[in-house]
Amino acid sequence: MKCAGNKKSMNKRSLLAIDGGKPVRSKNDFMVFGSPPIEEAEIEEVVQCMRSRWIGTGPRAHQFEEDFALYKEKRFAIAVNSCTAALHLSMLASGIGPGDEVITTPMTFCATVNAIIHSGATPVLVDCDRTTMNISPEQIEEKINGRTKAILVVHFAGRCCDMDPILSIAKSYNLMVIEDCAHAVESEYHGKKTGNFGDLGCFSFYVTKNIVTGEGGMVVTDDERIASKIKVLGLHGMSKDAWKRFSDDGYKHYEVVFAGFKYNMPDLQAAIGIHQLKRVERYWQRRHEIWGIYNREFASLPCVLPADPEPDTRHAYHLYTPLIDIEKLGKNRDWVLNALTAENVGTGVHYIPIHRHPYYRKTFGWRKGQFPNAEWIGERTISLPISPALSDNDVDDVMRAFTKIMRIA
Ligand SMILES: *Cc1c(COP(=O)(O)O)cnc(C)c1O
Repeated sequence: MKCAGNKKSMNKRSLLAIDGGKPVRSKNDFMVFGSPPIEEAEIEEVVQCMRSRWIGTGPRAHQFEEDFALYKEKRFAIAVNSCTAALHLSMLASGIGPGDEVITTPMTFCATVNAIIHSGATPVLVDCDRTTMNISPEQIEEKINGRTKAILVVHFAGRCCDMDPILSIAKSYNLMVIEDCAHAVESEYHGKKTGNFGDLGCFSFYVTKNIVTGEGGMVVTDDERIASKIKVLGLHGMSKDAWKRFSDDGYKHYEVVFAGFKYNMPDLQAAIGIHQLKRVERYWQRRHEIWGIYNREFASLPCVLPADPEPDTRHAYHLYTPLIDIEKLGKNRDWVLNALTAENVGTGVHYIPIHRHPYYRKTFGWRKGQFPNAEWIGERTISLPISPALSDNDVDDVMRAFTKIMRIA
């Protein structure tokens, strides 16, 4: 891999597909970023679900909830149709609404902040750390006031937030803690699994996530009152288990006790999740392996590699996000994105920080320069494919393409 180092830079550049050279992969073999593994067991389960003609929320969704609660060591798990729904319901079940403020990070997906907004509360951003890319605990306290109700942490890329100081702040100000675990199914911090730090934990089974159901999410909690509130709010505000309504237990009346939402997970989706969850460790192992290979191969390139996991933590390795050294490379991140795409390797950007999007700028008056660490990351970060579905050849292609592009410096 190191042999190109002594050639003239013009020669090296002319090899890039973006400059008309031969791409590492052929066009019809484009590597889709985040394409998940789908195996026979879930295909078979979906077929059986369809043959049973119970495709709505029912026994399979219930099974998935039980399996997930067991896996996360939680009393309650409620399956919903997205993590966005999970976050929204978590806000509402926590009693968060208009006039309240919720603290979160600018280094996240828009859904985190939208869930706060949809509850009627106001999001308050606290900058992230450049190394962990997670919310900076030492900057949280200065944003707390009488309206603050909760801290919504995001375990970025699967790296746990520094929960000890965050929990002690939350305790001293009597704030709820909600965990956005969309990247962090397998993550642990000081011997505890994600979803066990906050009052509520929210998970995503979107197509690119660590385990998938197509669309889907889960809320976990140990609080029975919150769990039943979430069930009611997530299914039209109906007071009874509506999926039992038409079962052979006989007809049951329901009562609407709230103008609720339609957030339940159908069995068709749970059928996939049940089997994906069984392989959560195997998939983690594979991503862990790919992460290690990338770290070794990219060590001498002009980029900052993701930091090693902190001691006594478990990283979920959801995203592999090197930061491009744009000064050394002499090219910006978007050029790297385009160059990789030209090599027919799909990439992602996690994330353009929240406060740089027009809606939030207009609505909350957030300005450039306000969250400098998130901006610094947002200008340099690129996500390389790390799906457990990648073959050794695929991983090799990512390495060859990224190395080729980054060796122009
Ligand atoms: C994907 C994601 C979500 C939203 O998940 P959905 O299941 O697509 O609603 C929320 N937060 C983060 C950090 C995410 O990456």
